[in-house]
Amino acid sequence: MRASRRPGTLGGLAAAAVLALVVTAAPASAHHPRPTDKVPVAVGSGGAVATVDADATRVGLDVLRRGGNAVDAAVAAAATLGVTEPFSSGIGGGGFFVYYDAATGQVHTIDGRETAPQAMQSDAFVENGVPIPFADAVTSGLSAGVPGTPATWETALEQWGTLDLRRALQGATQVARRGFVVDPTFAGQVATNATRFAAFTSTAKLYLPDGAPPVVGSVLRNRDLADTYDLLARRGVDALYTGRLAQEVVDTVHRPPVAPGSTLVVRPGLLETTDLASYEAVLREPTHVQYRGLDVYSMGPPSSGGSTVGEALNILGTSDLAALGTTQATHRYLEASALAYADRNRFVGDPAFVDVPLTELLSPGFAAERACLIGPTAAVKPVAPGSPDGDYAGCGASAAVGAAGTDGQSTTHLTTADRWGNVVSYTLTIESIGGNGIVVPHRGFLLNNELTDFNFTDTQGGLDPNLPAPGKRPRSSMAPTVVLSGRTPLLALGSPGGASIITTVLQVLVNRLDLGMDLPSAVAAPRASQRNSASVQAEPQFPRTELAALGHTFTDTPEIGAATAIEFLDHGRMQAVAEPVRRGGGAAGVVRPDRWH
Ligand code: GLU
Repeated sequence: MRASRRPGTLGGLAAAAVLALVVTAAPASAHHPRPTDKVPVAVGSGGAVATVDADATRVGLDVLRRGGNAVDAAVAAAATLGVTEPFSSGIGGGGFFVYYDAATGQVHTIDGRETAPQAMQSDAFVENGVPIPFADAVTSGLSAGVPGTPATWETALEQWGTLDLRRALQGATQVARRGFVVDPTFAGQVATNATRFAAFTSTAKLYLPDGAPPVVGSVLRNRDLADTYDLLARRGVDALYTGRLAQEVVDTVHRPPVAPGSTLVVRPGLLETTDLASYEAVLREPTHVQYRGLDVYSMGPPSSGGSTVGEALNILGTSDLAALGTTQATHRYLEASALAYADRNRFVGDPAFVDVPLTELLSPGFAAERACLIGPTAAVKPVAPGSPDGDYAGCGASAAVGAAGTDGQSTTHLTTADRWGNVVSYTLTIESIGGNGIVVPHRGFLLNNELTDFNFTDTQGGLDPNLPAPGKRPRSSMAPTVVLSGRTPLLALGSPGGASIITTVLQVLVNRLDLGMDLPSAVAAPRASQRNSASVQAEPQFPRTELAALGHTFTDTPEIGAATAIEFLDHGRMQAVAEPVRRGGGAAGVVRPDRWH
């Protein structure tokens, strides 16, 4: 995602302060439930939910209180985010769902990634020999893949849930119908997107009431989405993949409802009803590495999240970061990220199309070969990808081929746990903030622009694993992660942030497991992201003098990621954690708070 998530005037602390005022000033009425104050840390028992949004966390906790499990709560919270965080997620998008099953001790994952239409060829984003401007691709029918989120919810509930879809959607439907209080993050996201939202009649009608972004503190209802959720509740998610709604999605992609007078060039898309009808959310093996004696599970291809976090952890595991001290540990974190990114860019794509050497990428031998390239000072970037070929004699590397992944602030991550010890770590998205900008008329949800996650042209000298193809899933960076200690969950976490998702998850893990921080501090700490490019992106508070002396150069960026996480404490207690400041702060909750909190 490439647009800034909210205007510069609403920087972290300022936004949090405004939000506090708004919560107090919000209209109180039986029909307009006020959001509970957002709490970034909650400790207690009986289950936990951490999301970016107070309504979503509340709905998830309600499900847990009524006896639902972590999967039910995750779907209910995700559906609520589709209402209150519609620019980051929703049924027009996709995502990756990681589930730890306490009864079996197994970790399962669902790949709900959006999928390219059968008509999409490798040069789909090239016109007259040149890639189309990225911004044009974002706001287009062309960038919309088959949504995977509805199928993810259905699959998760069928496999491991206790609620049916109808009941799992109830809380979200109520929020959509009764309305929710617009916070500064929401209003800021509309403002950032106002021009392109105004270009579509359906989007302008929903998100630019009276021709302008909704006022902070006002109540926004999305009755069309409530009706769409009701339809899914009655007919199952097939209602979106077949029949009238499917046809409407296809019509919207082919003939976007461009407002009269708009000068925006909106390329039509290639989706057909047959593409929707054949969509499947795929159950996949999680990635797995061991780190400091813990088992780290995450999402495999077509996401590069698990393989890249895992490879970097394997590299970092070759040294004792705690003993090295913060500067050397952070130096190694940055270098390991760059090396793992080089390999990600070269080797990871949709496994149905690309032979991803996943076992080798995650092997200790390969990690040792990569780790020995880390010197006392920063390597010149980009570094070359390695050779995950099973033959690990020394410090091998092939020719450097760059291509830093793009970062962003769209997408959302939620983490849930229940009283039985089941855990969900779920990252979902519609790619850019506001997806492709096009609300399906009268249906209340935005379509994704996920296909812009494909590389438009070859970045890897003829070997690019992430070019478009018919029915292919674009490579993701989403890294919903669960960490076990033995057979017991220790941590669950994830973040949005485009390609910086990987470094955010990695950094929180290093902060927590190596640098002696508790989980709230590990999440709140200033972030830096090295994605194999010349300079490190860093938040303003990130300490850099000593790292600069080692040769690292930095580029300022206001915010990286918006993590949520849960840590499992003794005696069934849990610590739910969200951001204290980023994105206006997140909302953590537990079913039965400890009395002293
Ligand atoms: N589409 C991105 C991915 O799958 C996530 C977008 C974002 O977080 O900004 O990696």
